[in-house]
Amino acid sequence: MITLKIGGSSLRDTESLNRVVDIISTRTSLKKIVVLSAVKGVTDHLFKSIDEALKNDRQINGLLEYLRLLHRELVVGCIQTVSLRHQTMDEIEYLLSRLEKLLFGITFTGECTPKTRELVISSGERIAVQVLTGCLQDRGVSAVPMDADKIGIYATGEFGNGNADLITTAKYLPAFLKPYLNRNSIPVITGFFARTHDNHTITFGRGGTDYSAAIVAYAMDCSELQIWKDVDGFLTASPGLVSNAKPIEHLAYEEAAELAYFGAEILHPRTVEPLTKKNIRAVIKNTFEPDAVGTLIGAEKKQDKDVIKSVTCNSNIGVLRIYGAAIGQQVGFLKGVVSALSENNINIMSVITAQTDVNFLLSKSDLARGKLLIDSLKIPYIDSIETIKDIAVVAVVGVGLVETKGLAARVFTSVAEVGTNVEMIVSGASKVAQYFIIKLKDVEKTVRAIHREFFS
Ligand code: ASP
Ligand code: MG
Repeated sequence: MITLKIGGSSLRDTESLNRVVDIISTRTSLKKIVVLSAVKGVTDHLFKSIDEALKNDRQINGLLEYLRLLHRELVVGCIQTVSLRHQTMDEIEYLLSRLEKLLFGITFTGECTPKTRELVISSGERIAVQVLTGCLQDRGVSAVPMDADKIGIYATGEFGNGNADLITTAKYLPAFLKPYLNRNSIPVITGFFARTHDNHTITFGRGGTDYSAAIVAYAMDCSELQIWKDVDGFLTASPGLVSNAKPIEHLAYEEAAELAYFGAEILHPRTVEPLTKKNIRAVIKNTFEPDAVGTLIGAEKKQDKDVIKSVTCNSNIGVLRIYGAAIGQQVGFLKGVVSALSENNINIMSVITAQTDVNFLLSKSDLARGKLLIDSLKIPYIDSIETIKDIAVVAVVGVGLVETKGLAARVFTSVAEVGTNVEMIVSGASKVAQYFIIKLKDVEKTVRAIHREFFS
């Protein structure tokens, strides 16, 4: 049995939707489960709808009409059987009417609580599974739409940043899906969200469908997770920065996790977690180039001749730098700061410490709030707190990186040759990745220089 994750960009128009239907129905005879994102742009539109509804109710009808037309075009373009078309549009209308009530509720109460937000932003996936199921049925493929929060996929944690409860999910989901699978029907499940133990909808953060699909693959003991995107998998660098970046055929779980965590927006950062627990391989495939090999992610650790498999960068990370003459010696200092940040839902990407400085790597959008929070703790031995925004994190990733002599020298020589100053370095924390911080303005030339050194 395999799980197929279909990304929103693979559902962007009639042509790509037809490709997806081909991929699901013809490529393998194994039993399949499909996990689906919202159609491209829909989740952004739903976030925007919340902002508009908070202002007033004037835009709501137009915002809903946009969704109606977008999905109707797909339904009309891909479903030939008239009764099936009507049935699918009826389901979509029902979901839109629920969404309408939520949006008016937001306007009239003047607030959007986290629970309401989760319901609004999960609408895109709920609509998408109706559309794809209709298309599959139209081709004579038996398929059933399912909402993840009604079939035993559980999560805990903060709204907007859920963590799968793998054990509970593995207990309930198989019982729910098996009757359908036994009849050779394909479950088409919404990605992006799950249900909390007290029965609320909870999302996994942007791009969360990859994670959803890994959770399903885990709970159902699948042998493989196929992730269908609009790119050839992981590349040696971001193609936006390096025009001759090449696809990577194989990555170890750890390498994929590091790349997803800090760099390329190819995978939701937590996708590999459920997979490693049961040694399930993942394959990233391109919907528009289905015969290209893609990237295989698995347990095997292969060391390349030049060790480095990819160079990536992240410009959304900033530094919160805390100075204090003897900060390094204060027992409990980190604990206090870390608790304050996490209680306020600020994710700490990394911590780099010295005797007089502690540097937290945070998302740039969290820097100002993080500074205020730590200011408010009034810790006596902090002399000053600084936020640094004009930086980026560059990462090189590859099995064997820490153990290979002379590798860091090769990386930093190529960086120095283009005149880039390295402001901070993290090495050895991960066995397969090395990170360093540079000025934002130097990102392009630095990534290109490292790529040239290792890949041309
Ligand atoms: N639709 C959600 C988003 O855009 C989840 C996903 O695409 O994986 O973030
Ligand atoms: Mg999406």
